[in-house]
This record gives sequence, C-alpha cells and structure tokens, in this order.
Amino acid sequence: MQDLRTLDLQYLPGIGPARAKILHDQLGLSNWHDLLYYLPYKHIDRTRLYAIRELRTDMPFVQVKGWLLGFEKVGEGRKSRLVGHFTDGHDVMDLVWFNSVTYLTRTLKLRHPYIVFGRPSVFNGRITVTHPDLDDAASLALSKMGMQPYYTVTERMKKGGLTSRSMEHFTSTLFRQCTQLVPETLPDYLRGQLHLLPLDEALRAAHYPSSAQQLSAAMYRLKFDELFYVQLAILSLSHKREQQVGGHVFARVGPLFHAFYRQYLPFSLTQAQMRVIREMHADMQSGRQMNRLLQGDVGSGKTLVALLLALLAVDNGYQACLMAPTEILAEQHLHTFRQLLSDMPVQVELLTGIVKGKSRRRVLDDLQAGRVNVLVGTHAIIEDQVKFARLGLVIIDEQHRFGVAQRAVMWGKNVQPPHVLVMTATPIPRTLAMTLYGDLDVSVIDELPPGRKPVETQHVYENRMEDLYVRIRTQIEAGRQVYFVYPLIKESEKMDLQNVEEGYARLQKVFPMFRVSMVHGKMKPAEKEEEMRRFVAGETQILVATTVIEVGVNVPNASVMVIQNAERFGLSQLHQLRGRVGRGAEQSYCILVTNYQLGGTARRRMEIMTETNDGFEIAEEDLKLRGPGDLEGTKQSGVALDLKIANLARDGQIVQQARDVAAAVLRQDPSLSDPAHRPLLAHLQQLEQREVDWGAIS
Ligand code: ADP
Ligand code: MG
Repeated sequence: MQDLRTLDLQYLPGIGPARAKILHDQLGLSNWHDLLYYLPYKHIDRTRLYAIRELRTDMPFVQVKGWLLGFEKVGEGRKSRLVGHFTDGHDVMDLVWFNSVTYLTRTLKLRHPYIVFGRPSVFNGRITVTHPDLDDAASLALSKMGMQPYYTVTERMKKGGLTSRSMEHFTSTLFRQCTQLVPETLPDYLRGQLHLLPLDEALRAAHYPSSAQQLSAAMYRLKFDELFYVQLAILSLSHKREQQVGGHVFARVGPLFHAFYRQYLPFSLTQAQMRVIREMHADMQSGRQMNRLLQGDVGSGKTLVALLLALLAVDNGYQACLMAPTEILAEQHLHTFRQLLSDMPVQVELLTGIVKGKSRRRVLDDLQAGRVNVLVGTHAIIEDQVKFARLGLVIIDEQHRFGVAQRAVMWGKNVQPPHVLVMTATPIPRTLAMTLYGDLDVSVIDELPPGRKPVETQHVYENRMEDLYVRIRTQIEAGRQVYFVYPLIKESEKMDLQNVEEGYARLQKVFPMFRVSMVHGKMKPAEKEEEMRRFVAGETQILVATTVIEVGVNVPNASVMVIQNAERFGLSQLHQLRGRVGRGAEQSYCILVTNYQLGGTARRRMEIMTETNDGFEIAEEDLKLRGPGDLEGTKQSGVALDLKIANLARDGQIVQQARDVAAAVLRQDPSLSDPAHRPLLAHLQQLEQREVDWGAIS
C-alpha cells in the first residue's frame, strides 16, 4: 500500500484544492494520513429510536420516528418561523425552522414516515427540535448507521460550508479508497500478548465503531501506539547515549569534601540529602555519564547538595558549574558558596550578563586556565566564548527554564561530556516525569530540614486589606520581613507594572514607619541588585516584587508572603512563591489576595493551596487542572511529544504499560534487529527523522 503521507488531500474525491487549503489552514491536515488520524471528538448512537415521551432537554442528539401532522407559519418578516407538528403515534412535539420556509413546506410530506434527528429543547412548554435533520424513514437503514462520528470544525470552516457532516463524508470516502489495510506498527506477538486490535481495524473503528465497546478498544490501541513509540524512542535514545558516551570517573572522596563535611557544614545533612548524594556519587564513579534529575520541594536543601557534589568534582581534578535561571539567583548562589567555602582553597567565580569588560575577561581566562574551580552563573555560561579547562559536572538549578537543547550545548563544553544534574523544585507526577524527562534518572529529596514550621496559608479578599495590614505591622514590629508579590505577564505588562508601582506607593503610605524596596524585571540590573541587597541585609522590611523572586531567593527572616491577584498565578507558581517564606524558625504565613469574583478553577487553586503544603500533591492537582499541554515547554526528553490521542494526565496507566513494554522489548533486543521488530525500528526511525537529533549535538 502506498504511504498515505505522500497522498495530498486535494486528490481525495470530494475535496479538491480549495477545500484542501481550508483543511490545511484550519486543522493542519495536509495528507491522507493526517485525515486518517483526525479522530472524532464524540459519537452519537444512531441505532436507537426514542419515544417523544422519553425526551429531556439535557439529552444530546436523539432520533424519533413518526410523521408530520401539519405546518404552521408563526411571526412576521425576519422573525418568522415554520413550525411542524410531529407525532410518534402517542405524543406530539414541534420541529422549528427559521429559514427555507417555502422550500420546506413544498417538499416535506404530511403523514409520511420520517426519522427526525436533533437536540431536544423545550419551548412554550412543548418539546421542540430546532433545525432537525429529517430523513425518509424508508431510505434510512438505522442498523447500518451505527455510531455517528462528530468532528471538531472551526467557525471559519462552518462559514465555508464545511461541517462535521462534511468531515464524515471525507473520512468515509477515505476508508472506501483505502481498500488495503493500513500497515501494522506493532509486531503480532505483542498485539497478541496485550490483546490489542490490529491498527487498521482500530483506525476504522475509531471513526466508525459498531458499538461503544469497540470504540473504547480502538481508542486504547491508538493511545497505546502513540505512548509506546514515545517511550521506545526515549529509552533507545538513552541506551544509545550510554553506549557512545563514557563518564568521567570521580573515584575519590577527597580532602575538600571531607574537610567541608567535618568542619564547615553548618548543620547535619538530612537522611534524604545523604541518600541522593550517595546515588549521584555512584553514578559519577560508574564510568557512565550521569544524567540525573533531582526533585526536591522548595526549601529541601538542594543548594547544599549541589555544593557537596561540586566539591567532589574539584577533589577529582575537575571543574564544576552551577547555572541558575536569573541573575539574582545566580548571585545568591555565589554568595552562599563563597560564604560556606570562605576558609577553603576553592575558587568560585560568577558569570552573568552583568559581568562585563575586564572582570569578564579575567573570569574567562582563569576558567580556561583551570584556576576557577566552580563557576556560578546564568544562561551566559552557555555562550561559545566560555571555555573550561576540565569541566566535569554541570548543575542546572530550577530546570524549567532550561530545555534539552541547552543541556546538549553544555555537554559540548568538554571533549567527553560532563555529568549533568538538573535540580527542580517543581515535582511532577511519575508518569509525566517518565515522559518529559524520560532519559534522566530521578532522585528525590522527600524530607525537609528539621525544625521547619509548615507555612500557614490563607485566602483573603481584596476588601479585607485593612485587617491584613494590621497583622503585617505586628509581624514587622516583631522583627520579621514581608514580601508583596504582583503578577507580571507580557500581555498586560504595562498595566501590571503600574500595579506594582502603585502597590509600592500605597505600602509606603500605609507603613510610614517602615522601609520598602521594590524589584521588577524592567529595572536596571544595578538598581535591582541594590534594592534586593537592602532587603536581604534587613535594611528594608518590605519587598514589593514581581515574580522575579519566584525561584530560589533565600531570606530566612522573611515570614510573610502576600500574593496579590493570586488568581492570576498557576498552582506551581504559587507553591514556589510560598516556598520563599518558612525558611527560618518562626511561624510563617502565605496570604493569597484575590478579587471577590473568582472563576471555578481559580477558586479550586486557592482551596488546594490552603489545604496542602506538599509539592507533590500540588503538582498532581496542577496537572489535573491544567492538563499536561502547558508543560510541553518544559520538555526535556528530546523526543517528539505532540500527543494527539493520548493524554498524559488521564492516561497515566497506559503510559506505565507502554513504558514497561518498551523496556522489555529493548532488554530483549536492544538494537531492534530481530526480524519480528522490523516494523518497530522502521516506525521509530520515521519518528526520529521528524525530530531534531539532540543526541548528535554532543
Ligand atoms: P532549595 O531546595 O529550595 O533550593 P535551599 O537549598 O535554598 O533549598 O535550602 C533552604 C534553606 O535550608 C537554606 O537556608 C539552607 O541553608 C537550609 N538547609 C539546607 N539543608 C539543611 C539541613 N540539612 N539542615 C538545616 N538546614 C538546611
Ligand atoms: Mg534552590
């Protein structure tokens, strides 16, 4: 059979160039294969007939068999309508048309058996169907119609006369034209084991099922297919890397690590911190390159883990670097590292966009000469001019702003790629991690340092600000500091900035006895730094900020986080912000301020925040509320992820099954060279061709 991807849609009978263009522009469909996979969003059972007495207004489309008793024209001019009185022999309902009145009265026959198809409503106390489909009962073989598919079409398409019915027409033509079977993508033995329908049968049934059961079997097969190939691609990619790329061996736990651990570590590590360090050290001794994701809730002490791993690298004669998503955060890491390592012979330097001129030159030279042991910075580290003498470990903090591409560039900073650790405070559910970060091993810090009091979270409406100010005053008088955070997004940047500045002015008025600083992304770096410094040093008591402080900022003395317009933040963002307080020994508070009128999901987000402090629980809820689509941007696996049929949030079980089956197949036959696996290899290569090959960049 010819590859359906090579057949242009305009050559499918009934389509032609004009409609092909609409299908392409509106739905992104360009060939027969695309249409084959353009699945209906629902089906309606056309095998069942209803009695008028059974009809309810909450029913979807239904059909009734009967005959017309008579017509009535109601109203005048543009508002006129035609009402047909239709009976099934027991009761009467109204059929209503607002146009084609003359045509209808001429062509529809009274006392002739018809099947009415439409959505029931009630008008003037009578069951009414507006603009129904009316088919001659004799010409319509209901048993053959089965489940009728409904396709999503855009408004533009409807205006151009392309409806769900037209799509139905196209797909049924497509299946009539494809007399040969759509080629199978799974080996028979796997299909047999897993009780999956053949692909051809599944595709036909996904459009034209004979029953609800057949439809769900078909959807299962198609979802499995999609998820299985994603997992197979991810697993074979990481397998290939493992074969090709060796790892630097950090054989010894040397003097720096020991000295720091024994003498300078300000507290003892938590069990979880020790465990993840052991896991990573095992990787770094193994001769394999480490690619690991470290998940740990905000405040769980990831920075310290990063520091200890950097010392391991230096002990073994390597350089390490730590990359942060913002300048503020990079500077804070630099500060933490320098402070903790002040009595040790470890050279730590900073490289961000604001390190310029002579000092930049010096850092770059020292780095290349090997005089810098640990480099802390931002994206600036990725640039070509940044060359290391012997880079052995790359740590990426708060990963969600670094994609797989940046990671690949960092691999290229040494002839043999360095170990890579990605740290994130946004835990994601397992099935999603498996897919988004499929080629990363995962370590989890599931324990907070001792002595932390959970942050108390409250939801407050805007009109109760006065009470809030009183409570804040008490906190500050007791020596604490307070954050006020405002949303800032591109689309409404101007107004958002105005809000921040107004907030700043208002707080200065409300609290004349305290000092207030302000940071937002539009300020000059030096200004920002100075404002931040004043707050960190305790010279100001209140910090008004946009989400630039979202990640990482650490001021243990701050005990209140007020989030303005909290409804405009996503759950994981709110959780991140909340993580900025509760870092010291004092009871801390997170106050979510919103408007009185809240949408359903916004209200739910506030509820979840006040109910739990557990980042993993929040991540699960977040996924349910948003769907995984939004997470696409954080994709780390280097594998195509434009899922069309399966849904990572809803189909977690199938993800797991697909993962297990893919792993079993590769265990048995890592290169997929077994003849039975030929279709797998072919399909996989086809998928890989359509993706940039990040593996090749290293
Ligand atoms: P995150 O995981 O959010 O990056 P940090 O590394 O910023 O967390 O740590 C939060 C705070 O907890 C810091 O002030 C840090 O010094 C402190 N901390 C880290 N580990 C421990 C520990 N084992 N015991 C006590 N405090 C710790
Ligand atoms: Mg951190």
